[in-house]
Amino acid sequence: MLEETLREKYELVIGLEVHCQMKTRTKLFCSCPNNFGDAPNTNVCPVCLGLPGALPVISREAVTLAVRAALATNCTVHETSVFARKNYFYPDLPKGYQISQYDRPYATDGYVDALQSDGTTKRVRLERIHMEDDAGKLLHEGHGFATDVSGVDLNRSGSPLIEIVSRPDMRSAQEAHAYLTALKALLVYADVSECNMEEGSLRCDANVSVRLRGAEKFGTRAEIKNVNSFRNVARAIEYEYERQVGLVEAGHKVVQETRLYRADKDETASMRSKEDAHDYRYFPEPDLPPLVISSAWVEEVRSSLPELPPAKRARFVADYGIPAYDAEVLTLTREVADFFEAVAKGCGNGKAASNWIMTEVMREMKGRARGDEDVSYASLPITPAALAELIRLIDDGTINGKTAKDVFARMWASGESPKAIVEREGLSQVSDTGAIDAAIREVIEASPEQVATYKKGRTNTIGWFVGQVMKKTGGRANPKMVNDLMKAALDAL
Ligand code: ADP
Ligand code: MG
Ligand code: ZN
Repeated sequence: MLEETLREKYELVIGLEVHCQMKTRTKLFCSCPNNFGDAPNTNVCPVCLGLPGALPVISREAVTLAVRAALATNCTVHETSVFARKNYFYPDLPKGYQISQYDRPYATDGYVDALQSDGTTKRVRLERIHMEDDAGKLLHEGHGFATDVSGVDLNRSGSPLIEIVSRPDMRSAQEAHAYLTALKALLVYADVSECNMEEGSLRCDANVSVRLRGAEKFGTRAEIKNVNSFRNVARAIEYEYERQVGLVEAGHKVVQETRLYRADKDETASMRSKEDAHDYRYFPEPDLPPLVISSAWVEEVRSSLPELPPAKRARFVADYGIPAYDAEVLTLTREVADFFEAVAKGCGNGKAASNWIMTEVMREMKGRARGDEDVSYASLPITPAALAELIRLIDDGTINGKTAKDVFARMWASGESPKAIVEREGLSQVSDTGAIDAAIREVIEASPEQVATYKKGRTNTIGWFVGQVMKKTGGRANPKMVNDLMKAALDAL
């Protein structure tokens, strides 16, 4: 761990490059299905196999999704953009080049507002978004035809990607994590991509440098690849920060290079330095005309976008009176947002709806995820209407908060309605003053010492008395009522 004085001395600077696989029906430049999990090399044709003479034709659906991503991230969409060939040799790249965009990308100058857990918002500016086609995938182990050679699966070759390049605006691993979370939410809402890092539909390279706090010039950066979760992006950045500060403190220079993150060791290791970096020899793609996206097309796409997280968040705070942080968590996906809104509307108590979802529901869902069960909101044993009913039972005084937790557990296990559970098990709150008075009298008679202490002025011991009465009533008494009656009884002694 780095000493605090060194943390004060050196500032961390991060810029992220995010590759996102768009969920189109077909590939970017041919009509092969854009599917995953199919048998290797079944979704291929002359275009995505890179056979000579085959010509690319751009998919309208891919451009539409790319524009959705650009609008969701506040970018300017350019009417004309140009595809370029990015040349390099690798066995998963049959054409010998990737079709990408270089000096004229279709979108530039956007931003993402990332809400952090302390409630502050970090605005991360985007330099650009460009479209490109994906490479195939090398299969090194267990691909079926041999154990001692590698295979290549070209099903992914030609799949549509967008690369979202941020400015070096982030200053901590937490900010990078918050940015990725916010970016993913936008892309998922806008129906651009599943953004699943484990499945590779979202990939992130982190550019990291350090500089003396207050310095204007950026330090030399390292680019970290091979990170497979948001958490590991944050860990890799943190590791890299400490490594670079160590170098600079020891009088060495940070070299510009590409480094691989190794999750098993939680460290980064050099992959290639800039000296042997690729010279991609970019040149305009001669087989594709400039891409023209009319303003009418852009406006059509804009009007088809759903309410996006920032707007939804603001509305949740205003309409349901929940804290900004809750609103952030409850808008991470459209599913949870819809679930929350249905519960809040059903019970008329947005704060309670938020509390129940963020604690009980999310905890149960985590448990399900660990058990490999389906964790979609649609498959939960509890419907929004049932949870709303449970909250109403608390709010109208039928059950207390503690009983509600038990009822919730039963609802989760059986899918039964809360009213049915409360009636069958006789869980209604005891608000009958007769029963409570009797319990109070018993407690006072059985505890002369505690009563004496209370009477000496230690009135904060009231909680103990309330607890005793709650025990006697099986936890079902109305705690506020017990508190008031107990206090009155003690004060009258
Ligand atoms: P390249 O084309 O080599 O990938 P770019 O200039 O396009 O280089 O930058 C790529 C990413 O690196 C961007 O996200 C940018 O914000 C980030 N970046 C550039 N300079 C720095 C730096 N000194 N420290 C951290 N990140 C940086
Ligand atoms: Mg790069
Ligand atoms: Zn194809």
